[in-house]
Amino acid sequence: MRTPAYSSRCAGWPRTLRAMARRSSTSVSRAEGRRSLSIEATVWRFLCLRADPLAALQRQGRHREKPRPRRGFFVPKKCYIVLVKKRLVVGNWKMYITQADDARDFALALRRKTRGLSGVDVLLAPPHTLIPAVEEVLESSSIRVGAQAISAYADEKHTGDISGAMLKDAGASFAIIGHSERRAAGESDALVREELLRAVEAGLTPILCIGEKERTRDADHFSYVEEQLNSALKDMPKNSLKKLIIAYEPVWAIGKSAADAMKPSDVHEMTIFIRKMLTELLDRKMALRTPVLYGGSVEPGNAVELLKEGGVAGFLVGHASADVDSFVAIIKACK
Ligand code: PEP
Repeated sequence: MRTPAYSSRCAGWPRTLRAMARRSSTSVSRAEGRRSLSIEATVWRFLCLRADPLAALQRQGRHREKPRPRRGFFVPKKCYIVLVKKRLVVGNWKMYITQADDARDFALALRRKTRGLSGVDVLLAPPHTLIPAVEEVLESSSIRVGAQAISAYADEKHTGDISGAMLKDAGASFAIIGHSERRAAGESDALVREELLRAVEAGLTPILCIGEKERTRDADHFSYVEEQLNSALKDMPKNSLKKLIIAYEPVWAIGKSAADAMKPSDVHEMTIFIRKMLTELLDRKMALRTPVLYGGSVEPGNAVELLKEGGVAGFLVGHASADVDSFVAIIKACK
């Protein structure tokens, strides 16, 4: 029987998760002689049991062995093929590096220090003004240059905005969309959706940022992230989202130090939840193909643990991407 605590604890949760909690609490209590578990622990256990094959695959990284899923749920037979992808590390310089000479020096050093590295794709988002300078240095390397933001508008009457076509012309091949710092400056979910459309129209790879502002005992973060994903992706033409990358960045973890980053087990939980949402919004195959990155105080000291236990495809790195040695150390941790 459901306890009153159950109903009140789960009240703000998304429908899918409430249903999971209900089902899992029944099966866990049956299987384990009604041992009492907190609702969060129960859901987490349920997600782990159900999604373990996926997590195992993600941890396997580039291994090509055919996995043996414990249960035939969620992971289609071919998923080991679609998940065998390179890791991704995206550097977001914000306004840390502002001068063209410094940007060129950085790009040269990055190119030199990552030469011959395989198994990881490196992307760099300098400020708009530095895209051409950085692209000039990295043009003949495998490192891709992109933009930190893109205009949401398709017409010309937007003073100061930079459109997808302008970014492409400057040398960008991807655009970060809906970064929390831009959302905090007033970008709504609706505007973020428009930006995503503009990026797709321009042929730029969209990196969609999502993430809750805070964590409460009511687990509101699930519904927060669900809303952001729904607003950006619902009813979008699926073909347009083949190159989509998701960056899960809890706002409370951004811009601090490794000690303040999210716990890898919590990152793992959110990765599974996001992939579940993607399965509903896109389709299962696309959901498995879409890289889910983590961002928020990633530094060389926590990158390996976050990658191994967090089940992510890589990272969106802020402050540590402005220091070439730290950035390279994070890239190497993703190999
Ligand atoms: C970011 O702003 O995208 C970010 C992840 O920042 P930091 O790494 O500094 O937390």
